[in-house]
Amino acid sequence: MGEYEEQRRRLVELLVEEGALFDEYAQRAMLRVPREEFVPEHLRHMAYIDEPLPIGHGQTISAPSMVAIMTSHLKARPGHKVLEIGTGSGYQAAILAEIVGDEGHVYTVERIPELAETARRNLERTGYAKRVTVIVGDGSQGYREKAPYDRIIVTASSPDIPRPLIEQLKPGGILVIPVGDRYMQRLYIVYKDKHGSLRIEKGVYCLFVPLIGKYGWTA
Ligand code: SAH
Repeated sequence: MGEYEEQRRRLVELLVEEGALFDEYAQRAMLRVPREEFVPEHLRHMAYIDEPLPIGHGQTISAPSMVAIMTSHLKARPGHKVLEIGTGSGYQAAILAEIVGDEGHVYTVERIPELAETARRNLERTGYAKRVTVIVGDGSQGYREKAPYDRIIVTASSPDIPRPLIEQLKPGGILVIPVGDRYMQRLYIVYKDKHGSLRIEKGVYCLFVPLIGKYGWTA
């Protein structure tokens, strides 16, 4: 077993023990996706420490425990069409691609073109490019072209749940998003039932970089 693989296995074990990784599909995906391929080269040795890491342009790849919690709440499944807002390094997109499989697809929107480009390269190198479409744009408006989605995940913080994202979620769908002010947020898990009614569950407190756009923060 490679050095990183061994570190990955240990981290996943720890996250399961801590209760952060409470979905079987999320667990399997985190065992398979090489996080070291999504962090800047000089930080690779820190890929399996449970910390967010800088990826340039003032942005970060989320801590593994945050990816674990969000992915566990999201409950993505094989065949799902998933929308992610905030591609960053492409790591979360790869985790989702691993889960949805060849029958599903991940659309991920990033506002900084250079990050979108790096993410595309990372996804290509790790073999997930076919299942992921990286779009440059303002994800606070969602991505109407491929709506509606089975699942929507936002990995940047928003003052409120952007209305377009609620509209672009299928009945029976789940949306996970950090909501709050610039300094502290809380994970919201939004369930849309088959009649279109919403139920919001509030999860852990967290800190994300801001969602900057029409339905997020103004830069
Ligand atoms: N999920 C990423 C981490 C995301 S960091 C990963 O796995 O690495 C949050 C990202 O959201 C940043 O790259 C930031 O540029 C992006 N972002 C902020 N506002 C956005 C918007 N309105 N639309 C799309 N992306 C946005």
